[in-house]
Amino acid sequence: MSDCLFCRIVEGEIPSKRIYEDETAVAFLDINPWQQGHALVIPRRHVKDVLEDPAALAEIAPAIGTVGDLLKERLGATACNILSNAGADSGQEVFHLHVHVLPRYADNPGISNMRGPVTTDLDQVHARLVGGE
Ligand code: 5GP
Ligand code: ZN
Repeated sequence: MSDCLFCRIVEGEIPSKRIYEDETAVAFLDINPWQQGHALVIPRRHVKDVLEDPAALAEIAPAIGTVGDLLKERLGATACNILSNAGADSGQEVFHLHVHVLPRYADNPGISNMRGPVTTDLDQVHARLVGGE
């Protein structure tokens, strides 16, 4: 869908800080992170939200696991919130299924702190996630 922001990110027409991809999924850093390393995992194919086509969630589940492991290994996250908004009243703003993978850290735990505060340099976080050991 040419008018879908995340389809355009999949196609590379809009730049993103990609951290992982496979045959079915693409993962990249959220442009407005709630936590350092806040990532979005999306299916390559256009699906509006997880309720429209729940099978799409299963297709990207391996990528969600890989990204969670990456955030733990490279950034020192100790936990993750895994969240997908479905429908405008849930807060969904981009209508291409995406799963937020929110790395969480021992110094700011708990669901009440899920939305930051965070100050983060996306370039630096991206380099830590995709750079060599
Ligand atoms: P939603 O509210 O739909 O669940 O989340 C959409 C997410 O996409 C938001 O967290 C927002 O910051 C992120 N986002 C919106 N536009 C862009 C963009 O152009 N690039 C990236 N990397 N993230 C975006
Ligand atoms: Zn799309």
